[in-house]
Amino acid sequence: MSFEPEIERAAALLRNARHAVALTGAGVSTPSGIPDFRSPDYGLWERNDPMIVASIWSFRMNPQIFYSWIRPVAELLLTAQPNPAHIAMAEMEQSGCLKSIITQNVDGLHQRAGAQHVLEVHGHMRRATCIRCYREVPAMSLVARYLLNGETPRCECGGAFKPNVILMGEQLPVRVLNQAIDQMHRCDVLLVAGSSLEVVPVADLPLLAIEHGARLIIVNLEPTGFDPQAEVVIHGDVADVLPLIAGQCRATREAAAGQPPESISLKAASTEDPAI
Ligand SMILES: [Zn+2]
Repeated sequence: MSFEPEIERAAALLRNARHAVALTGAGVSTPSGIPDFRSPDYGLWERNDPMIVASIWSFRMNPQIFYSWIRPVAELLLTAQPNPAHIAMAEMEQSGCLKSIITQNVDGLHQRAGAQHVLEVHGHMRRATCIRCYREVPAMSLVARYLLNGETPRCECGGAFKPNVILMGEQLPVRVLNQAIDQMHRCDVLLVAGSSLEVVPVADLPLLAIEHGARLIIVNLEPTGFDPQAEVVIHGDVADVLPLIAGQCRATREAAAGQPPESISLKAASTEDPAI
């Protein structure tokens, strides 16, 4: 199915935006082989009560239950690579078409694709914190060791290390969430990609943007509750659609400036707002 007019319209909105922001969910990482573990198809929740396997209360009582549950996902997170959707969004940021990316994903793939301004509202897997003494350490080697020996990673004090992902019952990272809200107040175009906008607080963010006058672009396989309020809706695969939008943004910016790509990116970097 061709989305040519919608892609052109989305690219036009992004390249004319003063401050465009992207909001991404699990759908951006599924082409990298990371399943949407909230999806009924995957069944990670259906087979397990999330309050038992993925809440901070049960983690404090028995971290092994959490580690056993996360094991298949952790293995995928260690080996996953950025896909064309991540790369397209990093390119859009570099060409000045996007100012920041707010994501629900904890896999760090936006940054690994080269994106600079990423707000991870559900935390990330790069570091882990001891739940007893709060010592923080890099997480990837701990997770890799766990995958080998199956033992809960522990701190010298005896407390279990918890990856810096937000579990049920835990507060979202306030500073990151406030920055995300600030982005909603500032943005004039919001690109939603790979999210059904069903999980709060991310589900509340588009409303804030719309209330502040932003125009909405939605790229998601399934319909979302915000489709009727969006200016452009594309029910397609983000890994197919976003590179096409990024290509059009870049081509038009280059043509408009009449300069080679190198000088465009230098120009974009020098005028970039340091505080996203
Ligand atoms: Zn400790």
